[in-house]
Amino acid sequence: MRTISLLGSTGSIGRQSLDVIAACQMSVAAITANRSVDLLEQQVRQFQPKLAVCCDPKAAADLKIRVADTDTKVMSGMDGLLEAVRLSEVDTVLTAVVGMIGLQPTLAAIEQGKRIALANKETLVCAGDLVMKRAAKYGAEIIPVDSEHSAIFQCLQGNQERGAIKRLILTASGGPFFGQKREALRKVTRTDALKHPNWSMGAKITVDSATLMNKGLEFIEAMRLYQLPPEKISIVVHRQSIIHSLVEYCDNAVLAQLGVADMRLPIQYALTYPKRTDAVADELDLFSCPPLTFEAPDLESFPCLALALDAAARPGSRCAVLNGANEAAVRLFLDDQIGFMDIAELVQQALETVPEGSAETLNEILEADSAARDAVLSAWKK
Ligand code: MG
Repeated sequence: MRTISLLGSTGSIGRQSLDVIAACQMSVAAITANRSVDLLEQQVRQFQPKLAVCCDPKAAADLKIRVADTDTKVMSGMDGLLEAVRLSEVDTVLTAVVGMIGLQPTLAAIEQGKRIALANKETLVCAGDLVMKRAAKYGAEIIPVDSEHSAIFQCLQGNQERGAIKRLILTASGGPFFGQKREALRKVTRTDALKHPNWSMGAKITVDSATLMNKGLEFIEAMRLYQLPPEKISIVVHRQSIIHSLVEYCDNAVLAQLGVADMRLPIQYALTYPKRTDAVADELDLFSCPPLTFEAPDLESFPCLALALDAAARPGSRCAVLNGANEAAVRLFLDDQIGFMDIAELVQQALETVPEGSAETLNEILEADSAARDAVLSAWKK
């Protein structure tokens, strides 16, 4: 029976996590959101956490008045997030926030030796070495929630020997623009990009899935999580999203994890591991599956993936710059300020202008991240 602190409870992963938590009768000690006060109030009433946090101070003040009749304490900002992960009754921190904001609370949770159910891939992309080293030092388990990394984690059970792994194979749906070329992609709109064929997700990750940056970030996430060099990871486009990823062993056995495209399954496994408990997601009906297909990704039409693979192969702060620039560029795209292909253009310019540096300390990582965001904003204003 786990007691959970859920960071990002009002987002897509956060809401699905609460479904799983309710179905598995686990308890929630803390929930956090940015400023979705209506939903947060509902969640406070349903789950009765000890602490609720709004990052935005105005929203926190509003929530405090609304839930004054409950026993839930309300806090705001980074102090609130840090308090949420440090509560003594919490044994598992589920990080479902989007972006770099997840890094500091994740490090704080690791220092408390808590299990991290990690849905915040940006944390590992920017600060993977730092996070994995600290986790080893404090004995904190990091269990992936990202569907591909959960699939790999499941395929590794019983075969933990790193030397026996020949290759990890990450599957990619290809996103809504699969098969299109650069010229056509220049004309796609925000609405087109927000229509994902298989998964229902938040706006930022849906755009990342359309540019294939998401797969690039996942490639880096897999390198950090499983401590493997880039040449031991490959990407295959699998349009049906039924195989969630695969592990190839040194004897050429390939293990895969299959299931319906439902994030509640990897969320549940991250919370119940090493046990399996009764399903929250639907079962997979093999007889009604479409034929399973596999293709190579098109790096020419989707330059964000090429940029990510290039950054993945370099040491230091390149991945933090890639991620910070991408977060800033996607924000501009979602605000209708730039076109779809400008995302890759701006990320590339940031990678060219921000000087290479090391990424061993939290400060160095935060500096690389903010330099990347500044580089995107100044290139856009020109
Ligand atoms: Mg994924």
